[in-house]
Amino acid sequence: MKIKDIIKQNKVTLSFEVFPPKTDHTYDSVERATNKIAELKPHFMSVTYGAGGGSSKYTVNIASNIYNQLGVASLAHLTCVSSTKEEIHQMLTVFKENNIDNVLALRGDIPKNGNFPLPGHYQYAAELIKDIKVHGDFCIGGACYPEGHVESLNKETDIRYLKEKVDAGCDFLTTQMFFDNTILYNYLYRIREKGITIPVIAGIMPVTNGKQIKRICELSGTYLPTRFKAIVDTFGDNDKAMKQAGIAYATEQIIDLIANGVKGIHVYSMNKPEIAASIKNNLLDIINS
Ligand code: FAD
Repeated sequence: MKIKDIIKQNKVTLSFEVFPPKTDHTYDSVERATNKIAELKPHFMSVTYGAGGGSSKYTVNIASNIYNQLGVASLAHLTCVSSTKEEIHQMLTVFKENNIDNVLALRGDIPKNGNFPLPGHYQYAAELIKDIKVHGDFCIGGACYPEGHVESLNKETDIRYLKEKVDAGCDFLTTQMFFDNTILYNYLYRIREKGITIPVIAGIMPVTNGKQIKRICELSGTYLPTRFKAIVDTFGDNDKAMKQAGIAYATEQIIDLIANGVKGIHVYSMNKPEIAASIKNNLLDIINS
């Protein structure tokens, strides 16, 4: 089941993300969370991939379970920063053997203490995308950054490289999280102007841990609107209150996106079925309208 065919139906889509376990010990709990999220019948579910590739077998197992056992389309992330081309080709074969049709093709963050790029390795996601096209009939997604990728000099060059990535064979893009929808609207305008016309799925993070999100945003340069900062400052130390406020904020963001014509909504649900369920419930009539 290819995500590009789901998108073609031109309806609002709601998808959820899970991350794989790092060890065998926690596999069962991640699988239980995945099963519960799948019960919500999202349009698809994505499974992240460790940049080092170490937990790749879990990504495959979880993505395979989502599609083959639970009947929900699955999107396996794949990073290439720490893998040889041969390792990536082997992974694509494993995806195919497991009926995984959709790949989010990523470079991954550059390892802090490693040489980059290693000779014969991939340097950018665009090279990975070209290679995936040659190795099978996959539906390919790519990442995009409404506020610019941290390494890029400015948004203009980032969009120029994004165009190269799209031209390499992306079928859709998923955005990094953002907390101010006007940033996405401006970005969509700019990329459309540069000829990037493929569907863009908005990545929404329901924030349930105030301190953590402040740290993440400082590192990634994600803008925190005053309204959002006030919520984190007020409720950040109270887990239950922060969860309720975070879900409400994300719901409001999603409703505004849908009202402004954004059709693809991807929720960074972080293995938390109760958060995915709350968001889905808040949108029941909106998604089916
Ligand atoms: P690229 O598209 O290769 O871009 C990386 C940088 O290089 C950008 O600054 C770009 O402007 C620049 N660039 C591109 N082409 C050129 C060129 N030809 N010349 C010069 N500069 C160029 N990470 C994980 O480890 N696992 C995951 O599962 C994961 N999932 C993600 C899902 C989404 C939706 C997003 C938005 C990010 C995800 N990431 C994940 C993080 C991602 O791996 C990092 O942000 C990484 O640093 C960049 O990956 P990319 O695929 O966007 O890289």
